[in-house]
Amino acid sequence: MRILRVDPEKCTGDQVCINIAPDVFEMNSEGKAYVKDQVGADEETLQKAVKQCPSGAIYWEEAFDE
Ligand code: SF4
Repeated sequence: MRILRVDPEKCTGDQVCINIAPDVFEMNSEGKAYVKDQVGADEETLQKAVKQCPSGAIYWEEAFDE
């Protein structure tokens, strides 16, 4: 399973990802984006957000079942 994540160290809070996928990303109280629902958009839209994030803060984490 892959988990979509935002690296808060890299995120500049420009909200590009939220404009692309408003049901997936949300801003936290520190002005950083986080993933609230990774199934809130289709795969193509998620990849678009990963690619278009200006700071490269959005990434996939591989999670392996035990
Ligand atoms: S597009 Fe990238 S830098 Fe901009 S708010 Fe989203 S995660 Fe942060």
